[in-house]
Amino acid sequence: MFVIFLGLPGAGKGTQAARLASQTGLVHVTTGEIFRENIRNETDLGKKAKPFVESGRLVPDEITIGMLLDRISQPDCADGCLLDGFPRNTSQAAALDEALSAQGRAIDKVVYIKVDEEELVRRLAGRWSCPGCGAVYHETSEPPKEAGICDSCSSKLRQREDDRPEIVVTRLKVNMEQLQPMLDFYRAQNKVSEVDGARDAEVITDALKEIIAG
Ligand SMILES: [Zn+2]
Repeated sequence: MFVIFLGLPGAGKGTQAARLASQTGLVHVTTGEIFRENIRNETDLGKKAKPFVESGRLVPDEITIGMLLDRISQPDCADGCLLDGFPRNTSQAAALDEALSAQGRAIDKVVYIKVDEEELVRRLAGRWSCPGCGAVYHETSEPPKEAGICDSCSSKLRQREDDRPEIVVTRLKVNMEQLQPMLDFYRAQNKVSEVDGARDAEVITDALKEIIAG
């Protein structure tokens, strides 16, 4: 079972994928983790990705796809996984389809966690992120244990320029321009299930479990 999580920034897809993974036993694969692992292990792809990750630039598709394919070929993903943060655009989606089909596998389901823009702005504008490991916190809904300090790596958190409200609106618009064609791509394959992401986390997780079981 390969499940892709799609949603705009702030929709909670990372949180939901993690919850679903812990409750179903499916492996949660995130691009952030794949980047960190490849960089830590100094793989060829890791060395190529490092300067992009360190400077906060988008890692080129061919590097990301290479790492992702390595990751899902590992034994723990033999029965599938939950993909979070990938694909980011239709060319990555098409490359993933092609690579899986070469292995006789395919994406089974795509869940779109939908939250309206006003709510996303409210959520995103309170975000603080970790320059060290990329972890993201929220001043009200997901505060770190110690104010201003990352739980995982103890770096000092910062509010990124692009978490300011006026910038958030532009970011959401840009993200939607990538998300919409991906939704169309997977809708054409009848794989998309939409989930209302404005509800309580438990309710959303239950809805996701039903989709995956169904
Ligand atoms: Zn950190």
